[in-house]
Amino acid sequence: MGVREGSSLIVSAEGADADKALSVMHTLMQSLSAQEKADAELALKRQKSSPSWQAREDLAAIIGASAAPGMVVGQVYRKITHTLDVPDETGSLSDNASRLHKALRETKAQLQALSQETEQQLGKQEAKIFLAHIELLNDTDLITLVCQIMADGHGVAWAWNTGIERMANRLSALGNPVLAARATDLRDVGNRVLFHIAPELSNTTETACPDHPYILISDDLTPSDTAALDTTKVIGLATSEGGPTSHTAILARTLGLPALVGGGQGLLDIANGSQLILDGTAGRIYIDPNEDDISSAQEWITKLQAQQAKEAESRQLPAKTTDGTQILIGANINLPDQVAEAISEGAEGVGLMRTEFLYLERNDEPSEDEQYETYLAMSKNLEGRDLIVRTLDIGGDKQAPQLALPEEENPFLGVRGSRLLLRRADLLQPQLRALYRALKDGAKLSIMFPMVTSVGEFLKLRAICEDVRESMAAPSCPIGVMIEVPAAALEAKVLAKHADFFSIGTNDLTQYCLAMDRQNPTLAAEADSLHPAVLKLIKLTVDGAKDHNCWVGACGGIAGDPHGAAILSGLGVTELSMSPLDIPAVKARLRQNSMDELKALAQKALEAETSEAVRQLKEAE
Ligand code: PEP
Ligand code: MG
Repeated sequence: MGVREGSSLIVSAEGADADKALSVMHTLMQSLSAQEKADAELALKRQKSSPSWQAREDLAAIIGASAAPGMVVGQVYRKITHTLDVPDETGSLSDNASRLHKALRETKAQLQALSQETEQQLGKQEAKIFLAHIELLNDTDLITLVCQIMADGHGVAWAWNTGIERMANRLSALGNPVLAARATDLRDVGNRVLFHIAPELSNTTETACPDHPYILISDDLTPSDTAALDTTKVIGLATSEGGPTSHTAILARTLGLPALVGGGQGLLDIANGSQLILDGTAGRIYIDPNEDDISSAQEWITKLQAQQAKEAESRQLPAKTTDGTQILIGANINLPDQVAEAISEGAEGVGLMRTEFLYLERNDEPSEDEQYETYLAMSKNLEGRDLIVRTLDIGGDKQAPQLALPEEENPFLGVRGSRLLLRRADLLQPQLRALYRALKDGAKLSIMFPMVTSVGEFLKLRAICEDVRESMAAPSCPIGVMIEVPAAALEAKVLAKHADFFSIGTNDLTQYCLAMDRQNPTLAAEADSLHPAVLKLIKLTVDGAKDHNCWVGACGGIAGDPHGAAILSGLGVTELSMSPLDIPAVKARLRQNSMDELKALAQKALEAETSEAVRQLKEAE
């Protein structure tokens, strides 16, 4: 349809259940991109904080987008996709129709099997790509179009190929990267069906791959291409098209292959067999490196691998400074089935469970029972480790259309987080009941409120918790405040009198302190949580909590950046919670210094004039 993010659409429906259908459709349209946005934000943060190889200044480079981290040196193999020459062999309409029907059935069965195989090898999320392909085959517009072409007297293979090409061209011509990626998916699944209709065409699509390790370059890779890659040979991927949220990028990350996407036309001019350096972390390809470049890159890779192996080896050990101060390390995860991976990465508990994810990407609200089961399962899987459950934080970037909240001009400054909970007992009450039921049934958890701005708000929330707890005769639990608004940091001393703990949400604290939208890509480099002004708010928070037996943690993105983690610990934060993959490097970093050294580092950071100067303290170490 050519719809871009932010476009307005008018959707109409007819029939008895039109209202219901419209509401389901509306919800679906609004919630589709919630997880994608969260992933993209995380990837951007990681790219910003990851160290990358410093190339010689005059070394020619192609700059694309980082799709999967890591660096490799190797020879290029340029995959040429031949345009298929599909003969137009006419046949009777009924024969053609039954051949098409059979091919569609066989392809769906093949995709179902491929999805199961992919789930076992790579995971559920990756397997869904092929289930989505099955849906593409159920598109009645496509089938109608192909039938029309056949009815005009064309053969089934030709009609199918033409139908797919017409639909895919329409999508790619719209200039929208998301729809262009869907065109790749459509051609991919289209070829599968075509090869069932005419198996002889399947051997004419590819040139033979080299039998030595190579960096694969292509205009775009279909999910089928990527899932079928010979990972004993392919050491990296680069495509001229596609974006970091494309399926190729998702699969490359899962396969652990460094990858760049959106490298542009120049990428396809690189001669087959030439030597390249591919830096997936920075999203760059270096062309014609000399021997010195190659050995410097290889040294970097060896150093990086040794460092990662060392970090991985010690990830189960505590993050203790050289003088024995332990910083607790938690994971930011949202579902019970993510616990095992978090623990295997070295998590000692869950420092942030974002419960709004129970509300996103669905049409209805999770019931009290469903919430209770999720919290209990989460705690059970943690086997006695700590769990901090953050109550619903809807609003701002996280919209849940099923709640039909009024539209706001400035949602980040509107009724979000605790402000919403205090206005909507129908959301707060079932969530608290579910939490206290889980506590009653043996869960070990703490409750944390997001976006608290004043002590009055927190006192009301605490009182409501107590009412619910008492009415259920449930055990009590620690109740904490997220420090994400400058006002809360400035009032930390008062809040600490009433809270059992603080967790600093540095993502929002940075956004509100610097007045920079956390989602605006143009401001991404400046919206730095290591800005000295943000660090001063963190210091105020820690100082405010000191006299009140209120410990301070941090769960925003900077807690998962090794340098950021070192500064936060030096400022007096005693618990850090992050995405599981960040844990090994953070633990390793914290073990490098004594607490006094970390305090000195934090002091220098507070005195620095700019965020760049704070980041440079890393190089000076
Ligand atoms: C934060 O703001 O730092 C935080 C952890 O909460 P969220 O990213 O979910 O807003
Ligand atoms: Mg937040």
